[in-house]
Formats: sequence, structure tokens, C-alpha cells
Amino acid sequence: MSGNLFSLLASGFPADRTRPVFRQPGADDISYGDLETLAARTAAALRAARVQPGDRVALQVEKSVEAVVIYLAVLKVGAVFLPLNAAYTPSEVQYFLDDAKPAIFIQDAQGFVAGAWDLAPDPRIEPRGADDLASIIYTSGTTGRSKGAMLTHGALAANALALHEAWGFTPDDVLLHALPTFHVHGLFVALHCAFLSGCPMVWLNRFDEAAVLERLSGATVMMGVPTFYTRLLAHPGLTREATAHMRLFISGSAPLLESAFEAFETRTGHRILERYGMSEAVIITTNPLEGERKPGSVGFPLPGVDLRIGGGEETGVIEIRGPSVFSGYWRMPEKTAEEFTADGFFITGDVGRLDADGRLWISGRAKDLIISGGYNVYPKEVELLLDEQPGVRESAVIGIPHPDFGEGVVAVVEGRGDEAALIAALRGRLAGYKTPKRVVFVEALPRNAMGKVQKALLRRTYAGLFA
Ligand code: AMP
Repeated sequence: MSGNLFSLLASGFPADRTRPVFRQPGADDISYGDLETLAARTAAALRAARVQPGDRVALQVEKSVEAVVIYLAVLKVGAVFLPLNAAYTPSEVQYFLDDAKPAIFIQDAQGFVAGAWDLAPDPRIEPRGADDLASIIYTSGTTGRSKGAMLTHGALAANALALHEAWGFTPDDVLLHALPTFHVHGLFVALHCAFLSGCPMVWLNRFDEAAVLERLSGATVMMGVPTFYTRLLAHPGLTREATAHMRLFISGSAPLLESAFEAFETRTGHRILERYGMSEAVIITTNPLEGERKPGSVGFPLPGVDLRIGGGEETGVIEIRGPSVFSGYWRMPEKTAEEFTADGFFITGDVGRLDADGRLWISGRAKDLIISGGYNVYPKEVELLLDEQPGVRESAVIGIPHPDFGEGVVAVVEGRGDEAALIAALRGRLAGYKTPKRVVFVEALPRNAMGKVQKALLRRTYAGLFA
């Protein structure tokens, strides 16, 4: 078998290709055979557009079946898949295009796939080695500059196999998929588990708690970010009966509050399986399928993953080495070198500790990354824009506990002005989830002896803002 990830994924497709892969409300099912043909036609279209192995193909589209078709077609032709958040503004997107220099940039997935209809399906699968790039996933840096994490065919294949095994997927499963597909969670974690088991997915283009509860009866597994679970908990339709047939609920991409874990168990009888991952390594640890799932812990390292705590203390920065770890940041060899230890461990930037059983407990992020609704917000990017506004002397952007989003973005501004006007000034320049939900004006930001703004103090001061 070729080292191309597509070959591995297709090896899981059911022998009976008439079995469904996508089940969408109000639409006909799409079969594995249909998916295969669409991917082969779209691969022909990519080749006709002179996309070469190793070329980047950038995609900024709303979630759709066609987006998945294009992902598979990109793998087939040996190109590098570069998904971009649909919420990015044109000026944000320009940075990625300038940095990655894709051979093509697709903004209309339906149009692209429909345009392939006249072409004969191209069954070829470009031979790829384990070290060849399959995808670049941009993760913004704290300096505001995004870094492209390079993931190889080998890394993605290793993680797909490990998760398929760890979570016990079988052809009898049905995965409820309501995650976005521009991020590793919805793209690699969810799709690869479904493809490897050849199971269908209930395909929802966005998360809506009422729609999810309506479709849950046709599913056996759901993957979500913590916000999904807190929203389901707020809906009266989440009951023991509505979830009785479910095999597994999985959560990740941000910390799941212990209170949410417990409330979910009380309401449904299900103990949510929490796992930990990141763009640079896909999934690293998971709570067990069999055995105890502990609220607040992200579980054990996956087989083959070496995980240790750096710094010599009990709690410190989590360092990892293993088959799914990325091969560096795109065209940033110095940044890459800084974030690996001499013996080859990636320094994740997350802080945690291992208990006596070997379970990992994450206590926070070394940097001041904010995760709002499962998406990362890097304060610096927002601060730079705020600081350009009239009346703003300096700003500090922090995440404050938010009942719906996990964290909400708050700007503390040194200066004078109008809250609504300042928020309005940022709209259209930043994706909605990055735009501050509240702005607080202060005479002076608190600083330490070195002149650095004390963000931890700010977080404590405004902790109740969304309570
Ligand atoms: P991303 O690269 O966007 O997937 O973000 C990765 C970051 O999300 C990690 O480095 C963690 O800080 C955070 N994260 C992911 N899963 C969890 C989890 N289960 N608990 C706490 N933080 C998490």
C-alpha cells in the first residue's frame, strides 16, 4: 500500500460502497461510492489545474460535503491541504496566502467540485512517503504571526490508527459530526475515525443544540468542543432517554469544566470522554474507553507517545514526542528549533502534571492564549488593532470565564472612550470570535517591576464579568 494517507483511509471504506457516508437533514444520503467518485473527479480537476505533488491547495469555505471531497482529492494528488477558517477576513487571509503561496485558493467548494463533473474520474493515488507533507494547519503565534504546523502523511496516518483503536470505532457506528472542518478536530480526528471504520456520519454544517438533539437518535458517537456540551446541557431535550442508545461522547480542543462533566453524567448517565490535542500533534492523550474517565484529567498518552513535564517540577510545561508530532513550522526553521528540546521533544506551551497513575492534568497555558468557543484567540493580535484606535493608550486582552464560550475575550484599555464604539471599530477587521465582548477602561494598567502588564491580576479582577 502506498504511504499516501488517502490509501489508508480508503482501506477502511466499506466493501459495499453503496453504504452511506454522509447523512444530511433534508437531503439524500451520499454513499462511500459517491464520495470516492467525486474525489476522483476532483483530483482530475486539480491535475488539470496543474497542481503538482507538494503544492499547497488553500481552501476557505463554509463546511460542506464538497470541502471534504476537496480534502480527499488534495491527498490523492499528493498536494498539501491548507484549510482556513471561514471567519477570517480578507486581510487575515492575505497573510496565509503570502506565507504558504498555494498553487490554488478555493473559496467556492461547490463550484469547484461541480466544475470537475465533465472530467473523467482519475483513480490514481500519488505515491507519498511517510515524511511527505499532507497538510499545513496555521496556529497563530503569541506575537500575532501565525505559524503553519506541517503534518505529514505518516503523522496523520499514525494518529488516525491510534484513535480508531482507542475509541473502539466499528462499521456499526454512526458519528454525529457538527464540528467545523478547517481545524484538526473536525477535519482529522472526526473524519479519519469515520473513514477508517467505514461508518456513516450524521453531517450537520454547524452546531445547533436543537438540531443535534433531533439527529442524535441516528448516531452512536458524538465529538464536540466543551461549548457543545454546555449548550446541550442548557436544552431541556437533553435527557437520559434521548441519549440512551449512544455509545460515546468525546470532548476536546479546550478544557471541559468538571461541573459540565458532572452535570452531563447526572442528566444522561454518560461520562464524557475527554482528550487533549493540538494542531501540532493532533491527539496526544485520551481518557480510556474502558476504565475510569476522570473529570478534569485528559487521560493517558496514546500508545507510542512519550510525554513528560519539563522544568524539573511536578507541574510544568508539557513536552511530547511521538509518531503524530508535526515536522516543524512552515518556513520557520528558527521558530521550530526553539520549540523542540535537544532530544526531540516538542514543547507544547501547555502546563500540566502527571499523577501516580500516569494520567495528565492540564492546569493552563503557559502563554496567555484565550480559547473562546473552542477557537484560539491570541491577545497580541487584538491588542495591536486596539492600540491603533483613538483614545487608546495601551490595551491588555484577556480571557474571562464565560458560561457559553468557556472564555470570553475582554479588552482592558488604558485611556478613555466608548465601549460600543471601540467594539464596533474592530468588527470587520477581526473574526467575530476574536472581537472583544466587553471593553473596560482604566486609568493605568497594573504592571510589575519590569514594566510588564500583569495579566493574571487583570483576570482575577474581572473574573466575574460574565457571571
Ligand atoms: P489548537 O492547536 O487550536 O488545536 O489548540 C491546541 C490547544 O488547545 C492546546 O495546546 C491546549 O492548550 C488546548 N486544549 C486542547 N484540548 C484540551 C483539553 N482537553 N483540555 C485543555 N486544553 C486543551
